[in-house]
Order: sequence, then structure tokens, then C-alpha cells
Amino acid sequence: MRIKRALIKLSGEVLAGTAGAGLNGETLTQIAADIATAAKKGHEIAIVVGGGNFFRGVQGLNKGLDRPTADSIGMLGTVMNALALEHAIEAAGVPARAMSAVPMPSLCESYARRRALDHLAHGKVVVLGGGLGNPYFTTDTPAVLRAAELDCEALLKATNVDGVYTADPKKDPAATRFDSLTHDEAIARNLKVMDTAAFALAREAGLPIVVFSILDAGAIGQVLEGNGRATIVAP
Ligand code: UDP
Repeated sequence: MRIKRALIKLSGEVLAGTAGAGLNGETLTQIAADIATAAKKGHEIAIVVGGGNFFRGVQGLNKGLDRPTADSIGMLGTVMNALALEHAIEAAGVPARAMSAVPMPSLCESYARRRALDHLAHGKVVVLGGGLGNPYFTTDTPAVLRAAELDCEALLKATNVDGVYTADPKKDPAATRFDSLTHDEAIARNLKVMDTAAFALAREAGLPIVVFSILDAGAIGQVLEGNGRATIVAP
């Protein structure tokens, strides 16, 4: 199935490339080029970007920070990634708008649903930073919520494995991969597709989730055209 409008959940870790932390220029350029190529073919793309390459709230707890403060630092990391992606996508020839759920008007637009819809309809890639703007969440929950409220046909979860497996394929060589499964099956088999709360929201909204590896160049475009290697979680 060709997906016209999609929300891509991009973890910060992906943007770190092989360095493991921070931003890897080569990885950023490659992912931005893939996104720009897909946008030029008429796909409407919103991205919720994580911040794990800079900071995750849970890391702050063993530094003596309280959870809200640590999560605030995590949210700032997601905005840094959003600004980097906005620039890289525009450098690849497609207009992009970073929008933050935490207002930072001198850095980027504040998130507003109607404005984001307008950008998408005009062919701009919308890069959403700041998560939900609330502590005690990861970016999985805003990925599901924004996909639903921005009328996206599917949530594309970009990871470093090519789908959902019965177990972690990097640890268990006997793990087998699913081509497709339902939300209910994923819950019954206790498969970790994304955060439990976010996954429950996706199930309730009937939102298809496409899990794919972003490590292969061109993967985003293939998945959007409906012929990439991925696991599809759908009602
Ligand atoms: N975060 C938050 N509220 C949100 C989204 C994110 O507090 O709505 C914080 C949280 O500390 C999280 C960090 O930002 O760990 C970075 O996001 P995430 O862990 O989802 O990044 P990823 O693992 O996708 O790179």
C-alpha cells in the first residue's frame, strides 16, 4: 500500500550513526536526502524526532537530577535534532519546518496542529521536536498522537532492525521475523514494538505501525511506496 502522508518516528540514536552519541553528519545527510527524495515524489512527511543521542531523562536519575528536570534536558535534545534535520532536509532541496512542543520562538515555530497541517499540505516536511512538552514521556507517545492528529495513514518506526522479531535478533539467533501482525497479537505475545502506553494509544486509534530499518539508503522511500522490507502492525 502506498502511503501518501506518514509520520516517521526517528530515534535520536539513529542520528548518532556509528559514533553512538551526538550527531553524525554523514548519517544526518543520508537520512535527510532519503526524506527529501520521498517528499519530491509527493509523500507528505511529518517526523517526530527523539533525543537519545544527547540525553534521555532516565540517565539523569543517577546524576542526582529529579525526573522532570532530567526529562526537560531530554526534550531540549530532541529540539537540537529537529533543528539539525530541518537544516539538512532544506539543504537536500525540500522546504522543512522545525516545530517545538515547548515554545522557543527565537529558534523555531511552536507546534500548532493547524499550522502543521498547512505545512504538510504545501509540501513542507514538518520536524517535530520537544516531544509532547511534558516530562514522564518518551517520544513514542507524541509519535502516535501526532500521527493521529495530523491525519497520517501510518506511523513509520525507523529503527536499526528490519522489523519486529519474536526476540532480539542481535541476541537470539533463533528469533524469527514477522511480515505482519495485529496490535492484539503484539500485545498477546508481549512484543516490544514501542513504549507500552504509546502502543496502547496506537491500538485504540487503529493506527498502522510500520517497523523498518533506516540503515539501508532509500529505505524510507521504499516503505512509503509500499514495497520496502518491514513489519506491518495493523488492526
Ligand atoms: N521527553 C519528555 N517528554 C516527551 C518526549 C521526550 O520528557 O514528550 C524526554 C525524555 O527524557 C526522553 C528524552 O526526552 O528520554 C528523549 O526522547 P526519547 O527517549 O524518546 O529519544 P529516543 O530514544 O527516541 O532517541
